[in-house]
Amino acid sequence: IELLSEGQLNKQNKSLAIVDIDEFSAINGALGHEFGDCVLKVVSGRLANALPDCLIARVGSDVFGILGPSDKVNPITLHGTFSETFLVSGELLRLSATIGLVRLEEHPEYGSELLKDAHVALKRAKNSARGSSVYYSEPMGEDARKRVELLNGLREALHGNQLFLMYQPKVHLDDASPSGLEALLRWRLPSGDMIPPDQFIPLAEQSGLIIPIGTLVLKTACNYLAELRNQGHQDLVMAINVSQMQLREPDFLEILDEALDESGVPPEKVELEITESIAADDLKRITHSLSEIMERGVRIAIDDFGTGFSSLSVLTQLPANRLKIDRSFIDDILQDDRIARMVINLGQSLNLDITAEGVETAEQREALIGLQCGEAQGWHFARPMEGPACLEWLKGR
Ligand code: C2E
Ligand code: MG
Ligand code: MG
Repeated sequence: IELLSEGQLNKQNKSLAIVDIDEFSAINGALGHEFGDCVLKVVSGRLANALPDCLIARVGSDVFGILGPSDKVNPITLHGTFSETFLVSGELLRLSATIGLVRLEEHPEYGSELLKDAHVALKRAKNSARGSSVYYSEPMGEDARKRVELLNGLREALHGNQLFLMYQPKVHLDDASPSGLEALLRWRLPSGDMIPPDQFIPLAEQSGLIIPIGTLVLKTACNYLAELRNQGHQDLVMAINVSQMQLREPDFLEILDEALDESGVPPEKVELEITESIAADDLKRITHSLSEIMERGVRIAIDDFGTGFSSLSVLTQLPANRLKIDRSFIDDILQDDRIARMVINLGQSLNLDITAEGVETAEQREALIGLQCGEAQGWHFARPMEGPACLEWLKGR
């Protein structure tokens, strides 16, 4: 950092790179820490050889910082040093690296700020592909700053009652009578602006905040269902979105049991929605925790079905009661109903109930009735509503 400080650093034609060795923790795990240490030595030796006039420092467990002339510190030279196999304690090893770079003269910062910029670029590179490299740019930094702000805001939101649930009715397709509700999370800033879940839920997942938020959602939704049941709506099923991180938490079942006990709603009236992409990853573990959930009588729905990449064999192994056809296929259904038709047939042969998401028109509804789809959800029937409005809506049916 000292060498990057103002006064010390001549930025002319210089670049800073952060080089992160891919899969290093896997190497460490499989071959041991001692071997891992040797890998680092061999890599740093190779880098030093290839970049004689550059400054090389270890800035993280498997991360090197390199400062030097831009004709040396660039993706071609850096990736080049990884192109030949490495010899590590008698073993031949193929390695690659993901790299974040900063062209120093293009940016006004100094010191740790430059290092931060390089890390922002590295993160971008990691998100795109292993073995890639990305140069830092101003908009990237702006983006990263916004994310940090949003995350801080989300922490406050959780403790300051800015998070709340809306409920969207689901209906039996044949007579449009209500079959259940889906709880949908909302974030309203003190200014009144709403932040859409597609923006803050990924952030909550990355930061681990989804755990306390998910618990709040589970309990609030169950309590609301209990209230509806008190008002005479005994048949409704409450669908609740649950993210993969929550399922992986060892005490998820405990939280679920608590939500059921405290509200007193029957487990069969609660349905947890998980997305198909969730299901593909880490199949054994997820399958196990889904079975435990189903043993309690709680139902499982596969959300946004058709958009993920899981194979059909994954689907046959997954404990589930329902498939929700993704909205995008309902959008297309009047032009091309092949996917909707296929998912409905698939559900029938696997003995799964089917819900069509995002039904917006009477024509779409007719098409789905023709395909013998059982349940639907969408603006054609009802939009998501806050608790009291939803209760009013139900009274009108
Ligand atoms: P999802 O579970 O697939 O939820 C359905 C989304 O479609 C909701 O968007 C809903 O408002 C919207 N929608 C329903 N009917 C229509 C329609 O006819 N037309 C159109 N254009 N849209 C319709 P929303 O509320 O923005 O939620 C987006 C996603 O955020 C959800 O997708 C879900 O994956 C996630 N999410 C929402 N609440 C939670 C939560 O409490 N926990 C977790 N983990 N994820 C949540
Ligand atoms: Mg859902
Ligand atoms: Mg969905």
